[in-house]
Amino acid sequence: MSVTVVGSIAFDAVKTPFGEREKMLGGSAVHFSLAASFFDDVLVVGPVGDDFGPDEYEVLEGRGIETADIERVPGGRTFFWKGEYGWDLNDRETLDTQLNVFADFEPKLSAASRASDVLFLANIQPDLQREVRAQWGGTGFVALDSMNLWIETARDSLIETIGGVDCLMLNDAELRQLTREPNLVLAARQVREWGPSVVVAKRGEYGAAMITDEGFFGLPAFPLETVVDPTGAGDSFAGGFVGYVAAHPNDERDHALLSRAMAYGTALASYNVEEFGVERVARLTSDELADRVAELQRITRFDEQPIVLRH
Ligand code: AMP
Repeated sequence: MSVTVVGSIAFDAVKTPFGEREKMLGGSAVHFSLAASFFDDVLVVGPVGDDFGPDEYEVLEGRGIETADIERVPGGRTFFWKGEYGWDLNDRETLDTQLNVFADFEPKLSAASRASDVLFLANIQPDLQREVRAQWGGTGFVALDSMNLWIETARDSLIETIGGVDCLMLNDAELRQLTREPNLVLAARQVREWGPSVVVAKRGEYGAAMITDEGFFGLPAFPLETVVDPTGAGDSFAGGFVGYVAAHPNDERDHALLSRAMAYGTALASYNVEEFGVERVARLTSDELADRVAELQRITRFDEQPIVLRH
């Protein structure tokens, strides 16, 4: 099986209290692909400019990611994003967004990308997400991520796009902003009325929560002593979550399986934030990933010991 992803392929400039990078490989589709590549074949769709060179391709291809649907625009410049984090790493400020080659991008999915079983619409303009959804011929699981920029500038288009997917994954603040509903449970109910049966709220250092037809599931973030750069944590989470789903047949994708997928997403996001950009996940091993999921399981399980309550 395979998973197709469309989203930003980017150069990022990032400053955190622990250091900075002026130009590093990033983008929602890149972070997603690296994480999802632990589970399944990944095909990336999106445009890049002349400045996207062999070193950048190598990061993806070194993990077996299919780059044939990355469209190189002659004379164009790759999407660029600049952001800064303060001491509260859940809170970031966008200082610059240059769409560049994304401004005129018209997605054209190859036969292989259209034939995948799972589709991830990573964060990018919702009209583009919808165009890709329309071209994709699969019948399996479709998940979508977005961000405050599109909620503020293209809310109606975003809601229409959400109507065509199985799973919405957003930060909890974005979920509230999108639905105009402060209560997370009610916000998820609103989203489920729009179409998706699965809603995942990403909560940064506090973990993630999921609501499906079968109920609620929550996990804390993996407790880390070193957090250097949260950029791409959400996309790495999505890559782990959706990649795990893609590695299993459609009829097994129930609440229990999606809960295990949450654990893989959580583990991948935790590795992602330990270093800048893709630096850590690009050299992550499957043993390290498995160890962290096992540790996450250990620290989130407790034994029930019946006691007689006083009242
Ligand atoms: P995350 O930290 O997981 O929410 O995503 C970080 C990535 O999103 C960065 O690598 C950026 O290149 C990318 N990004 C930032 N703004 C946008 C945008 N408006 N559209 C698409 N991707 C974006």
